[in-house]
Amino acid sequence: MKAAELVKPFRVKDGKGFRLKDVDPDDTGGIASKEEAQAALREGVELMAELQQKLYAQNQWALLLIFQAMDAAGKDGTIKHVMSGVDPQGCQVFSFKVPSAEELDHDFLWRTMKCVPERGRIGIFNRSYYEEVLVVRVHPEWLGGQKIPASLVTKDVWEERFEDINAYERYLTRNGVAIRKFFLHVSRKEQKKRFLSRLEEPEKNWKFCAGDAKERQRWDEYMEAYEDMIRHTATKHAPWHVIPADNKWFTRLVVAAAVIDALEGMDLAFPKVDEAQRKELAAARAILEAE
Ligand code: AMP
Ligand code: MG
Repeated sequence: MKAAELVKPFRVKDGKGFRLKDVDPDDTGGIASKEEAQAALREGVELMAELQQKLYAQNQWALLLIFQAMDAAGKDGTIKHVMSGVDPQGCQVFSFKVPSAEELDHDFLWRTMKCVPERGRIGIFNRSYYEEVLVVRVHPEWLGGQKIPASLVTKDVWEERFEDINAYERYLTRNGVAIRKFFLHVSRKEQKKRFLSRLEEPEKNWKFCAGDAKERQRWDEYMEAYEDMIRHTATKHAPWHVIPADNKWFTRLVVAAAVIDALEGMDLAFPKVDEAQRKELAAARAILEAE
């Protein structure tokens, strides 16, 4: 199946009217089995590696992949599997945690701005400035800790953040940084199952954080925040992909397809050698052969 076809049903380019409940976390897009998906992923990873080499050699475009999800939706595993075939030198991954004191002393985009991928690279944000309209929206009391002048924090604060994020993403796009955003949509039931296995299996214990179970109690508020975020920030230039995440093998395949689709849209090619460079290469060869 072509990457473009596989990813299309899950891409949101215009958020108006988007409803989260229209996406089934358990959907597997007509893929019959895990084995079939894994075979397709292996092929996809090879294709991605070829495209990434051209991206790097051409050194013009950059690709920024943004991952957001509830805990245990599979962000880390997806990043690991999808990027497994890519040259580590061509890839930059950044995880954004609870902001530090230094980060809180700046505007909310500051810490991510420093991490935007260079030309020729694929950059990955494991969480991002979108936390500012998700976890902070569910906990608006945290806005206080951001030290923004009180007169600037009004009821419009979320709308304003959406507006600023859209403007920033348009700016990046206009500068050759293509953006693809992923919401890994896991069901509440599947999250419970994964939390329990993190508690039961000692080698998974480290992944569990007591706070995660507490956040889970506010599931509906999170879903509302996600839906509103997608409605406001899904754009043609920086689309959201709302990806069913109850089956990890399907999530990984669709993310890989979206990355391939984005790279294929860049018209990538190895730089051509011109006449002057060809002469230089011939001269270098003559020197080597004369040794
Ligand atoms: P994890 O990715 O599971 O290691 O957890 C990182 C934690 O940092 C999550 O609970 C996020 O919600 C939290 N976090 C990330 N960015 C922000 C932010 N801008 N403000 C508050 N919490 C954040
Ligand atoms: Mg966590």
